[in-house]
Amino acid sequence: MDNQVALVTGANKGIGKEIARQLAGLGLTVYVGSRDAGRGEQAAAEIGGDARLLVLDVTDHASVADAARQVGTLDVLVNNAGISGGDQTPDQEDADTFRRIYETNVFGVVAVTNAFLPALRRSAHARIVNVSSGTGSLSWATDPQSRHWSGRHAAYRSSKTALNALTVFYAHSLADDGIKVNALAPGLRRTDLNATAAASGGDPAEAAAGAVRLAQLPDDGPTGRFFSWDGTTTPW
Ligand code: NAP
Repeated sequence: MDNQVALVTGANKGIGKEIARQLAGLGLTVYVGSRDAGRGEQAAAEIGGDARLLVLDVTDHASVADAARQVGTLDVLVNNAGISGGDQTPDQEDADTFRRIYETNVFGVVAVTNAFLPALRRSAHARIVNVSSGTGSLSWATDPQSRHWSGRHAAYRSSKTALNALTVFYAHSLADDGIKVNALAPGLRRTDLNATAAASGGDPAEAAAGAVRLAQLPDDGPTGRFFSWDGTTTPW
């Protein structure tokens, strides 16, 4: 994968940093997206290889446009930046919390993807990986046997359901460009995302490997699909 270029949003820590580390380890030039220059610079130095800071706040139009101007060709875009919320059901949650979470997890993905499309179209085999969540699966939310059968974490989970829909729609609309778009359910991982993840999550590197697999899909590989970190299909 020499000479290939990747961008991982929210790569200064957590799963995103591990994805950036693994892609850099494969020989890619990796833009380490970070809304804070200092944290991003430190992460890029720790990742090593050809990892480079790219200051990028996915909720800030000027920041997104400025970042896109700095990248010529892009082979891999990993929309990883995300925030969580409380465990409220929708009736307990206020609309502003939904707006805040959607701003990053949904609208941020649209803004970044659209801004980087010219760079992605310059690649012969571009891949987009949207870091979603199994908690956004409506199949699981409506299955009484599933541990996700609940209306809790409504703002966060519905944002990931929306991201799943966008994955399908982008896959359709970019198919003629040869750009593959897939969503990843990384599983519960030990990161700063929330208290549950921090306390009982597994190794983020395992989830990152799932993202790297989707970033390396061959030309006859799938698009518009939702995969678990281990490569199995996650139901919509
Ligand atoms: P994390 O450690 O909290 O990392 C989140 C990253 O996103 C950080 O780098 C953060 O930057 C960045 N970010 C947040 N808002 C941003 C913005 N507006 N612009 C740019 N970057 C922004 O959490 P994580 O677990 O690695 O999360 C990564 C992705 O995995 C998220 O999409 C999350 O929903 C998904 N996920 C995680 C789990 C899990 O168990 N951990 C499970 C399912 C899905 P700052 O450091 O500046 O805040």
